[in-house]
Amino acid sequence: MSSTKDSKADGASTEARVRAASRMHLEADDDHAPEHAPEFESVVHRMLELIGEDPDREGLLKTPLRVAKSLTWLTRGYDMDVHDVVNDAVFEEPHSSMVMVRDIELYSMCEHHMLPFFGKAHIAYIPDNKIVGLSKLPRIVEVFARRLQVQERLTEEIATAIQDVLNPKGVGVVIEAYHLCMMMRGVQKQNSQTVTSAVRGIFRNDARTREEFLYLAHGHTPTVR
Ligand SMILES: [Zn+2]
Repeated sequence: MSSTKDSKADGASTEARVRAASRMHLEADDDHAPEHAPEFESVVHRMLELIGEDPDREGLLKTPLRVAKSLTWLTRGYDMDVHDVVNDAVFEEPHSSMVMVRDIELYSMCEHHMLPFFGKAHIAYIPDNKIVGLSKLPRIVEVFARRLQVQERLTEEIATAIQDVLNPKGVGVVIEAYHLCMMMRGVQKQNSQTVTSAVRGIFRNDARTREEFLYLAHGHTPTVR
């Protein structure tokens, strides 16, 4: 994904925090994936035959194993739980202004075609005496992104999870993503980005708060590609 950002001045500190959070997230994220079922490999072997390939040629010999492993890893969110991920990183804090983490990298797979969609999530909340470690927000995204998804549901699930964990005054989530099922299959759809948002609490009820959030989520976003 080459959606490099050009905005420098505004939100620089936010971006630094985002980068740090993403890095922590990567470090914390081990390789562990659930074991795949034994028949997974034979199913992939059969799929190779069905698309007209010779599964026994050298380059494909280990492909069933690789696909079984990678698909299992890419869908490991089914075995993850938000409360485990957040663990003890919720803190009492009288902070009552908006907290926002922008540009959380996101990789998921559409449930209609089992092809990737990828992009960025922007998450904001207004605490009600409880805050969460910033590095946990990308990890919450991961719990729901690493499943077969539709972008709309993914957005809602992230918002609901943050609402459940923190019971904040409000939550807002925006996801901007590119869907390979559109880009690879269609013609002239290569640049269409899908944007979804979900709001809870004061983000829903108070127009000014919602506008501030949407401005922060979209306002500084340079056109991506
Ligand atoms: Zn799709």
